[in-house]
Amino acid sequence: MSYNKPLPRLDTLNKPFWSAAKEGKLLLQHCPACGDTRFPPGPVCPKCLAGDQDWVESSGKGTLESWIDMHRAYWDGFKDDLPYRVCLVRLEEGPVMVSNLVDKTENLRMGAPVKVVFDAVTEDVTLPKFTLA
Ligand SMILES: [Zn+2]
Repeated sequence: MSYNKPLPRLDTLNKPFWSAAKEGKLLLQHCPACGDTRFPPGPVCPKCLAGDQDWVESSGKGTLESWIDMHRAYWDGFKDDLPYRVCLVRLEEGPVMVSNLVDKTENLRMGAPVKVVFDAVTEDVTLPKFTLA
């Protein structure tokens, strides 16, 4: 079975994130110099420009900032999923992630607590998605 949706391009910068996701962990890039925590990762800290960055494990918990239901497939691979839900989640650690909310309920509200779930879509890529907590 082949996966026919867009996939992230794995590189040296984001490899720790995707390797951890395969193990069911959500990592955020962290700056040891100033304490900034962010997603997505970058080559230097955007706050203090320090080059040495490390990773911290997120609790995987956050709140629903916003969401939309996609009723049109811009890639053929999404046709069978319509409508599917795209969400913005603010993690407890501060960063905001764009992801999918797997719940189909119409009873959503901004600020609802959510938690990460992992969807292994290929051998190399496990996508962090979110569900209502
Ligand atoms: Zn910094």
